[in-house]
Amino acid sequence: MCDTYTPAGDPIPTNKRFNAEKIFNHPDVAAEEPWFGIEQEYTLLQKDTKWPLGWPVGGFPGPQGPYYCGVGADKSFGRDIVDAHYKACLYAGINISGINGEVMPAQWEFQVGPATGISAGDQLWVARYILERITETAGVVLSFDPKPIPLFFLVCILFYHQGDWNGAGAHTNYSTKSMRNDGGIDVIRKAIGKLGLRHKEHIAAYGEGNDRRLTGCHETADINSFSWGVANRGASIRVGRDTEKAGKGYFEDRRPASNMDPYVVTSMIAETTILWKP
Ligand code: ADP
Ligand code: MN
Ligand code: MN
Ligand code: MN
Repeated sequence: MCDTYTPAGDPIPTNKRFNAEKIFNHPDVAAEEPWFGIEQEYTLLQKDTKWPLGWPVGGFPGPQGPYYCGVGADKSFGRDIVDAHYKACLYAGINISGINGEVMPAQWEFQVGPATGISAGDQLWVARYILERITETAGVVLSFDPKPIPLFFLVCILFYHQGDWNGAGAHTNYSTKSMRNDGGIDVIRKAIGKLGLRHKEHIAAYGEGNDRRLTGCHETADINSFSWGVANRGASIRVGRDTEKAGKGYFEDRRPASNMDPYVVTSMIAETTILWKP
């Protein structure tokens, strides 16, 4: 993994690591030892049709419900790829914390973390690269599109009485040292307050095409409004029940799209919650 510079020594425009590292090296940020756990969702597509793996050609599988964490040849499509990726990440030293089958068939998730500071972005990018290598070998196309089966197919949905389909995100779980210590829930509340004030800026940096995903349906919050709640999957930010109960812990930013740049998202969350003074 390398970051990239022009011959003159300036970071090239897509080198988002450069600015992220500056933020993570700020003494106030470094002192807080920010942890990130990123849930990377993705979709496996058939190479020739770009239609999801296991879906009937020109048609739809049965409606969503039985697929999330599902097992069985009629519910789980591509587990050989998912398991190979999990093992390859462990072998490579990635702090991968799990995998699961998602709500939409052929959609999957892996989690990287908790990882501290810049290392979260480094590890997620390498885990994505390994996944693309493995899907390539399998002759399957990897998609990080936030809404691979769009509203365009609504007409088919109505005609065939099919359910509609979840998008793909990259929920970003986050904590600082003060949030993990006693009394951390107050620090979490303040951090969420600041994230709310900067909702527009964060959304603009959270991935391309996220407006197709953050509709307020399918366990997402509407892109135009900021909300948070305990155990609420329909909010922008979810605080877990365990964190509320313990009075300390972490929270989940549910807004980032599957195609987000983890350097941008993690450093922006740290910048807003630790450095920014509203
Ligand atoms: P969900 O319930 O939203 O599906 P997951 O179990 O998929 O959540 O992912 C949770 C992520 O949060 C994991 O990557 C985990 O390592 C990470 N995590 C756990 N504790 C912390 C913490 N204190 N700070 C930041 N991330 C954390
Ligand atoms: Mn998850
Ligand atoms: Mn998920
Ligand atoms: Mn989540």
